[in-house]
Amino acid sequence: MAICYLCERKERESYWCHYCPSCRRIKHLLNLYGDRVNEVLEHVLVRSEDKQKYKIQDKIKEDIEKKQYSLRSQTKKEQK
Ligand SMILES: [Zn+2]
Repeated sequence: MAICYLCERKERESYWCHYCPSCRRIKHLLNLYGDRVNEVLEHVLVRSEDKQKYKIQDKIKEDIEKKQYSLRSQTKKEQK
């Protein structure tokens, strides 16, 4: 079976249909809501990615602080 024109990953619903079932749904939503779909995708997806970055940076910072703390306490033990 042929590949969907939109996602280029899933199989088309049928040979004469251009899209897979989930992309056909997206196409339907685009027909219904027009540019609103693009706005929502940009705002929700892009913003949540930003939040993910902050979360990752925060987590890395936390890990670094923990490592520094354990390194400090290790050197203290070694000095004794
Ligand atoms: Zn698709």
